[in-house]
Amino acid sequence: MMGDDVLKRNVYLDYSATTPVKKEVFEAMVPYYTENFGNPSSIYRYGREAKSVVDKSREIIAGTINASTNEIYFCAGGSEADNWALKGIAEANANKGKHIITSKIEHHAVLHSCEYLETRGFEVTYLDVDEYGMVDLNDLKNAIRKDTILISIMYVNNEVGTVQPIAEIGKIAKENGIYFHTDAVQSYGHIKIDVEKLGVDLMTISSHKIYGPKGVGALYIRKGTKINQFIHGGAQERSMRAGTENLAAIAGFGKAASIADETLDEHRTRLIALRDKMINEISSRIGHVKLNGHPTERHPGNVNFCFEFIEGESLLLLLDNQGIAASSGSACTSGSLDPSHVLMALGLPHEIAHGSLRLTIGDFTTEEDVDYTVEKLVGIVEKLREISPLH
Ligand SMILES: *Cc1c(COP(=O)(O)O)cnc(C)c1O
Repeated sequence: MMGDDVLKRNVYLDYSATTPVKKEVFEAMVPYYTENFGNPSSIYRYGREAKSVVDKSREIIAGTINASTNEIYFCAGGSEADNWALKGIAEANANKGKHIITSKIEHHAVLHSCEYLETRGFEVTYLDVDEYGMVDLNDLKNAIRKDTILISIMYVNNEVGTVQPIAEIGKIAKENGIYFHTDAVQSYGHIKIDVEKLGVDLMTISSHKIYGPKGVGALYIRKGTKINQFIHGGAQERSMRAGTENLAAIAGFGKAASIADETLDEHRTRLIALRDKMINEISSRIGHVKLNGHPTERHPGNVNFCFEFIEGESLLLLLDNQGIAASSGSACTSGSLDPSHVLMALGLPHEIAHGSLRLTIGDFTTEEDVDYTVEKLVGIVEKLREISPLH
């Protein structure tokens, strides 16, 4: 144990939960707390300067996804954008129909919004996924009804990293005249996104998953989409989302988005190499493991395994003792004893789903971090299995 302490490192491997704010991003934010603190709605110089950074961030973000600036609406993060897309479309189009299609592996911001809408007279179809977490396009086609008004399928799953065939889903939605929303929080900054090629009408993105500040995100809303406003009040965000703009956060989000866009290719290449190294070493050095998610259609930084005969929570605690921060699924579900809804939807038995571990790699992860983590993991799994009554 003494020896372990000497070698101990701090390794953050939970980039899908949140990311640190990059130095350049933080620096871009500071002036908007101090000198340029104006209210963008004011007409004097302070206000104009404040407004100009909101406009600039909007322009940058629109440019990264091939949207127009007036199709980007800032809000308080991914959860709010998901709520807005679901509730805003449902309310505005209820006269056309009250049926929504989504999947069983969506983020809770989408799933719980759907459950809320069910209490308001809407009907929701929750599509199954296959063992890799993929939605079946034939299932989707079969679920479409005359009264279907919205399809909401996430781009990349936050727990197992599976990438859905979004362009194909967009095509099906368009052919049937149905609005299509995608939660792209886990793909933005990792996959080059073009809203025209994907055929999406609404798309959620969040700043703190791409090295920007927390509490700010955006909803892309295609021009002409019939959707209700989300916050009633002033005329901010073209009267669709009231409230004085979170100026510094929006400045940081814009900066983070521009860095992510400029470095997308090198970011992907670097992450994929580290991810694959980690996956290969865990698979070859530890027995009775199963990689969760898709082997190739996968988030560049996502590693998710089930370890048989082990409790995910004990694994997390022992990793934490060694300075390694990981997750047993999504941050939203850890702390509860129910296995994640995503792993259940993949068809994993309860006892195996309980032994799951998500390690997500990011821009500050090094090869030494990966080596250290694998080394510690091998020892911890062995120790836990020795004392496991299941083994
Ligand atoms: C993190 C996350 C969200 C929520 O975004 P916040 O900005 O934290 O509210 C939504 N969807 C997915 C897929 C996420 O990973």
